[in-house]
Amino acid sequence: MGGGKKPAMVYLVGAGPGDPGLLTLRGAQVLGRADVVVYDYLASPELLNLAPKGARKIYAGKTGANHTLKQVEINELLVSEARAGNVVVRLKGGDPYVFGRGAEEALWLSEAGVGFEVVPGVSSAIAAAAAAGIPLTHRDLGSQIGILTGHEKPGKEASALDFGALARMGTLSVVMGASSLETILANLASAGKDPATPAAMVEWGATSRQKVVASTVGDLAREAKAAGLTSPALLVVGEVVALRDRLNWFEKRPLFGKRILVARTREQAGRLSMALRELGAEVLERPAIEIRPIEPNPGLGAALANLPGYGYLILTSPNGAKVFMGALFGHGLDSRGLHGLRIAAIGPGTAEVLTGYGLKVDLMPVRFVAEGLVELFGSLPPGRCLLARAREARDVLITGLRGLGFDLDLVPLYETLTADWSGFEKLSFIDYNNGHSVEKIDPKGSIPVDLVTLTSASVASGLARHVPVGDRARVRAVSIGPITTQAARDLGFTVVSEASEATVGALVEATLGYLAAKKA
Ligand code: SAH
Repeated sequence: MGGGKKPAMVYLVGAGPGDPGLLTLRGAQVLGRADVVVYDYLASPELLNLAPKGARKIYAGKTGANHTLKQVEINELLVSEARAGNVVVRLKGGDPYVFGRGAEEALWLSEAGVGFEVVPGVSSAIAAAAAAGIPLTHRDLGSQIGILTGHEKPGKEASALDFGALARMGTLSVVMGASSLETILANLASAGKDPATPAAMVEWGATSRQKVVASTVGDLAREAKAAGLTSPALLVVGEVVALRDRLNWFEKRPLFGKRILVARTREQAGRLSMALRELGAEVLERPAIEIRPIEPNPGLGAALANLPGYGYLILTSPNGAKVFMGALFGHGLDSRGLHGLRIAAIGPGTAEVLTGYGLKVDLMPVRFVAEGLVELFGSLPPGRCLLARAREARDVLITGLRGLGFDLDLVPLYETLTADWSGFEKLSFIDYNNGHSVEKIDPKGSIPVDLVTLTSASVASGLARHVPVGDRARVRAVSIGPITTQAARDLGFTVVSEASEATVGALVEATLGYLAAKKA
């Protein structure tokens, strides 16, 4: 391949039902090299994080009546962006070819001679039911599935739906049925469906806002209305619905119903997000800060040129460890350059990063705070220390170690910047309603967040720059330790729980502890 113009290409990608974990591997691959992402209301905003930082993200809207772009405009946008030489990902809720007008988009592209690939997705017609504890088939309870829309093309004279046939079907999975729920169920009943047949409505299935009403064909319309269920929701009809009582795994997880913001840097967020998701939380990764290595950095250069002159290397954060190792390699050295030094870290996160470079930490305090490290050094033979860390940091280590008689070279590694959130949807911070967040993503407004995790004082101050002073008290934060708690409170945030030590595990425990106390 030469440097010629890229052939126009559009990927029609199924985003799955709402849980970002349900995107396919192929979907993640093509998102990873997108120049432009055109996304829907129903696609998880988290998936946009998989696109390159510079990719343009265009919201195509579509919430029933509330269309942001008209379908023709979307079609034309895909063509023009692709022809301009961009890799275009069209991210659609569920599966692109199960309703949602993917076929129309593909036909338009084919007509225009634009290359396209369809990446199937996990349809809500199947996955929202599964998340509600309803398997669409079962050997004894359902051996046929009918997937249909409850909202036909406006202006169509006669319904294309054959209710006689549908009434005899084992299981029905109906998308876009919220507004016509009553009519659909009435039509089924008059076509001969037993009104006692189990039926359920699943609103926002497979997300933290999932709400389910399980009833019968005869009673569901009334009960779903009483419970206030609206679109997007899936209607499931059939004997299999009765299995929900026994198979409702999704809502039983301890953090179900909570949307939690993880605001640390993207590189560090992974483990915390994973642990929270494992417990059923919906995690929103949105770094409040960015790390920028200081360049040029003559002080660091001089220290690296003189490594054998030091007895100790002290690293105080995972970010610091990464930047330091990057600089070491940048100087043409590698881990062997540290062979004579004893390496100290404040906590296990830093130690873990170093392990990744084949380095073992020699010194780590029992309490993962700077004071703990000073205590530890109190029993060590004096030597020259290289303390490499963030530009803005507390003075505890400096005064403490100098006080103990250590000769200390202080080298700043990186500075912390506020991350740019301009390309993201706004967040709002809500109160609990019976331990369950009831607000939805407002298509024009913001994404409500239940809890925020604060993993350092700098994350707290980064977040503060994104939250107006008047809103801060409504931010409920779980903090990694006393220093972060103090910083967060000074900024006006409400700290509801604090980790017993500065680890991901303890932070997750603190989150669980707070919610358990709330329920009791
Ligand atoms: N292509 C999509 C469906 C698009 S039509 C798919 O395969 O899932 C939009 C309808 O899908 C909504 O009105 C609703 O009925 C259903 N839907 C999408 N996401 C849903 C979710 N998380 N929970 C319940 N229903 C959902």
